[in-house]
Amino acid sequence: MTTFDIINPATEEFIRSIELVDVEATDDAIAKAVVAQKRWAATAPASRAQVLRSFARIVAERNEELAQIEVANAGHPIGQARWEAQNVANVLEYYAAAPERLIGEQIPVEGGVNVTFHEAVGVVGIITPWNFPMPIAAWGFAPALAAGCAVVLKPAEWTPLTAIRIAELALEAGLPEDLLTVLPGKGSVVGNRFVTHPDVRKVVFTGSTATGKTIMRGCAEQVKTLTLELGGKNANIVFADSDLEKAAAAAPAGVFDNAGQDCCSRSRILVEKSVYEKFMELFEPAVKAFRVGDPAKDDTEMGPLVAKAHLDKVTGYVDDESLVAFRGSAPSGPGFWFPPTVLTPERTHRTVHEEIFGPVVTVLPFEDEADALALANDTEYGLSGSIWTRDIGRALRVSRGVEAGNLSVNSHSSVRYSTPFGGFKQSGLGREQGPDAPLAFTETKNVFFAQD
Ligand code: ADP
Repeated sequence: MTTFDIINPATEEFIRSIELVDVEATDDAIAKAVVAQKRWAATAPASRAQVLRSFARIVAERNEELAQIEVANAGHPIGQARWEAQNVANVLEYYAAAPERLIGEQIPVEGGVNVTFHEAVGVVGIITPWNFPMPIAAWGFAPALAAGCAVVLKPAEWTPLTAIRIAELALEAGLPEDLLTVLPGKGSVVGNRFVTHPDVRKVVFTGSTATGKTIMRGCAEQVKTLTLELGGKNANIVFADSDLEKAAAAAPAGVFDNAGQDCCSRSRILVEKSVYEKFMELFEPAVKAFRVGDPAKDDTEMGPLVAKAHLDKVTGYVDDESLVAFRGSAPSGPGFWFPPTVLTPERTHRTVHEEIFGPVVTVLPFEDEADALALANDTEYGLSGSIWTRDIGRALRVSRGVEAGNLSVNSHSSVRYSTPFGGFKQSGLGREQGPDAPLAFTETKNVFFAQD
C-alpha cells in the first residue's frame, strides 16, 4: 500500500500518513456506489431531503473541528477555515430543498400527455484541488446527492483530511453507506479511473487547465459529461472616476486571500493612467498592512503556501527583482511563506499572462475604456473580475464586455452558493452552484403517454 505524508505548511511538521487508494479499491467503491445510487434514487424525495438537512446540521455542529483540520492541513487562516466549513453546511442546506423541487414539464402535444423527468445520471466522480478542499467538494457532492446520484470523490493529494472527515459525518447524519465515498489517491490513478470507468457517468473536475484538458479528452472516449472549473487570470479594473481609496483598500484581499491560491484571485490590477500614481500610493500601505502569519490566530489574513513544491513554483515567477514595485511581509523560519508581492512588468511579460496561483499581483496602466477591455480580455482565461467606477453606464458596458463568468462591481464579491459559478473560455465548462446546479447531475427524459 502506497502512503502519502501530510505536512503542516505553516510549520513543516508531519501530521499523518494517508494510505493511497489503488485502481482495484476504486473499482470496488464504484461498484458499491452503483448499488447505493439505485436505492437512493428510489427513496422518497422528502426522505432524501431530510437526510441532507441532518448532514448540513452535523457539519455545522462540527464547524470548529473541520476548520482546525484545514488550518493544519492547508495553512488557511482560522477565520477563513470556519467560513469554509460553514459554507459546506450552507450548500447542503440549500440543496436539501432540491429533491422535492426537481420539477419536470408537461408539454402540450396531440393525442396524449407529454412529460419530462430529470433522471439522476448515476455515479458521479468528483476530483477536487488543494486550494479550497471543503467548499469545492461540497459544490459538487451536495447538488449531486440532491439530484439522486452517488458520489465518489478524490481529494487532492496534499489536502485530503477534511473530505475524509466530512464523509464520516455523512454516515453519522444517516446518509446511506457507499453513497459518498472519499478515495484519497493519485490523480493519475484514482482520478483517471473516474474518467475511464464506464459506471462513472459524470466527472466534476476543479483544477489546472492542463489537467482539465486531459480529463476532457478522456471523457470524450465514452461521451461522458463533465463540468470543469479551471484556471483564471482575473482583472481588477480601476477607473479614474472610482472611489480610489476604497478600490486600493480592497485590492489586497482581492488578490492575496488564501495566499492567492484562488482561481478567482484578481491577480491583474488594471488602473486608468491618470490615477495610476495615486492608486499605487494608496495601494502600497494597504499591501504592507496585510497580516501574514500564524494561521491559527484570529486576526491573520494570509497564511503560508500549501507545499514546498508550490512555493518553488511561485518563487520562480519573481526571480527578476527589477519587476518588484513593493512587497508586504511574511514570517521567516519554518513554513512555506511568500510575502504579498506587487509587480509592474510590461504587458507582454509572462507574469501578466500565466496563472501564478500565489500572492503575486501585476499592476498595469491603461489609456481608456476600450484599452481596459482589450487588456482584461487579453487572456486565455475568463473566470472572474472586478470593475471599480461610479459611472453606472460604464459599469454596465464593461461588465457586459469582460469575457468572464463572475464579475463584481465596486467589490470583490466571493462565490455565493445561491448564484451560478463558472468560467468562459479556458476557465471551464458548465456552471456549479446556483438554483440550477442539481440539473447538471440529471439527464432529461421525455415520455409520451398515448390517451387511446
Ligand atoms: P494543481 O496543478 O493545482 O495541483 P491539478 O489539476 O494537477 O492541479 O490537480 C487537481 C486535481 O486533479 C487533484 O486532485 C489531482 O490529483 C487530480 N489530477 C491530476 N492529474 C489527473 C489526471 N490525469 N486525471 C484525473 N485527475 C487528475
